[in-house]
Amino acid sequence: KRRSGRELRELFLSYFEQKGHKRYPSFSLVPDDPSLLFTIAGMVPFKPYFLGLKQPDVPRATTSQKCLRTNDIENVGRTSRHHTFFEMLGNFSFGDYFKESVIPWAWEFLTKEIGFLPERMYVTIYLDDDEAFDIWHKTVGIPEDRIVRMGEKDNFWAAGPVGPCGPCSELIYDQGPEFSCGKPDCFVGCDCDRYLEIWNLVFMQYNRDEAGNLTPLPRKNIDTGMGLERLASVVQGVRSDFETDLFMPMINKISNISGVEYAMNKQHDMAMRVIADHVRALAFMIADGVLPSNEGRGYVLRRLLRRASRYGRLLGLERPFLVDLLPTLVELMADPYKELVENINVIESVINLEEKKFSRTLDQGSALIEEEISRLKKEGKDVLPGETAFVLYDTYGFPLELTEEICQEHGIKVDRDGFIECMEHQREMARAASKQLSSATKKESYSSLLSKCGSSEFVGYELNEVRAKV
Ligand code: ATP
Ligand code: MG
Ligand code: MG
Ligand code: MG
Repeated sequence: KRRSGRELRELFLSYFEQKGHKRYPSFSLVPDDPSLLFTIAGMVPFKPYFLGLKQPDVPRATTSQKCLRTNDIENVGRTSRHHTFFEMLGNFSFGDYFKESVIPWAWEFLTKEIGFLPERMYVTIYLDDDEAFDIWHKTVGIPEDRIVRMGEKDNFWAAGPVGPCGPCSELIYDQGPEFSCGKPDCFVGCDCDRYLEIWNLVFMQYNRDEAGNLTPLPRKNIDTGMGLERLASVVQGVRSDFETDLFMPMINKISNISGVEYAMNKQHDMAMRVIADHVRALAFMIADGVLPSNEGRGYVLRRLLRRASRYGRLLGLERPFLVDLLPTLVELMADPYKELVENINVIESVINLEEKKFSRTLDQGSALIEEEISRLKKEGKDVLPGETAFVLYDTYGFPLELTEEICQEHGIKVDRDGFIECMEHQREMARAASKQLSSATKKESYSSLLSKCGSSEFVGYELNEVRAKV
C-alpha cells in the first residue's frame, strides 16, 4: 500500500506505543553532549540512560528523531539514500526487553504493517552472534541463505573505545538488479543502492574495559534506527528518497524556479537533490539555534549553504534563491515540526543574508577556480596548489571541501597540506598582530577598533577538522 511519509512516521510511532513505548517528540539537532556536533542518531538523547548515568522515567521509548550527519555530505546527491538531515525512527529499551522481542517486532512491522515482501529481504548479523541467528532463523523463519554474517565495521556498535557496546543486526531490502552497480560481487554490504539498508537493530549487551575485554552488562539495552526517507522510498516504489513525497515537492519547486526539468540529466538531478537536502538541513539547524560561523556547527551550516548555492548556479540560478524553497519545506514539515513555523523569520533572514554574502564572491571565485583548472590541465598537472585553495577560502569564501569537490569533478586533487600551511601562517600573523596591538594600545581603543571592524573570524576549529581528515 502506498503511504505518505507522514503516515509512515505515525504508523511506526503508534506501533511501538502499542508495544508499551512512550512516544517522545524529536529532541533537538543540537545535542546536550559535548562530544558531538549534532544529533546523529535516535539514541543520542538517551545516551545517559544507556550509560547508566541517569534513570529513565520509562523503560521503553520511541521517537522520530531529527538527525544530521556530516560524514555523509559528500554522498548526498550521489546516492539515492543519503542525506545530511534525515529522520530516524527508533525504539529503545533501557534494560527492559532484548533481542528476543525486538527482532520479531521489526520483522512484523516491515512485513505485516508495511507490507514488505519477505522474499525481498535480507538480514545481517554480527559474525558470532548465534543468538540473533537463532531468533531470525528459528523464531522468525528467515532462510539461512538470507542471513548474512558481517564484521566489526558494519555490525558491531560502540559509543567509544570503552563503555557499553554490542553487536547489531540490520534489515536490508533488495531493490532489484536494476539498482545494482553491476560488479560481479555486488551483494548485501555493497556500497551501491541495490541492497538498501533500512533498519539497524543494536543489541547493547557488553561493557568494554580499557584492556578491551567484553563483559556482559547486567541490564541489556536495545537501540534501533530506521531512516524514514528510505522506508518511504521502498513503500512508494520510487527510485530514490528524493522522489518520495517527503522530497518531491522541493524538487519540483527547484525545477520550477530554475526551469530545469528533473530526471533528464544526471548533473542537474544531482544539483537538485543537493539543494533540496541542504535547504532542509539549513532550516532545521537554524530552527534549533545554529548560526553561521567559521567553526563547529556554524561552519557546517556555512558549508551546506555555500554548496547548495553553488549547485544553484549549475542550474542557471544566478541570484540568491534558497529562501524561495522555504514555503514548500514548511508546508511539508510543519506537522510535526512546529519549530519550523515558529522560527521561520529567523530561518529566512539568516539564509538570505548568508547567501547574499556568498553570492558576491561566488562568481569571481568560480571564475578563478575554472581558470586554475584549465591551466593545470594544460600543464598536465593534477594538483591544485594549497595557496590557491587558500585564496579561494580567504577571499572568496569557498570552504576547502567545496574547492575539493569542484576540482574532483575534473580529476584534480587539492594540496591540503599546503592549504593548512597557509591557514597556519595566517593565524600566526594574526596572533602576532594582535599581540602588537594589545601591547601598543589600551583596552578601550582596542574595543573601539573591534566594534569598527568587527571581530576577526576564528578559524581554529575548522583547521583542526581539516587536520583530522588529512
Ligand atoms: P549507510 O551504511 O547506508 O551509510 P549507516 O550504517 O551509516 O547507513 P546507521 O548508523 O546504521 O546507518 O543508522 C541507522 C539507519 O538510519 C540506517 O539504517 C538508515 O536507514 C538511516 N540512515 C543512516 N544514515 C543516513 C543518511 N545519511 N541519510 C538517510 N538515512 C540514513
Ligand atoms: Mg553511513
Ligand atoms: Mg551501513
Ligand atoms: Mg548501519
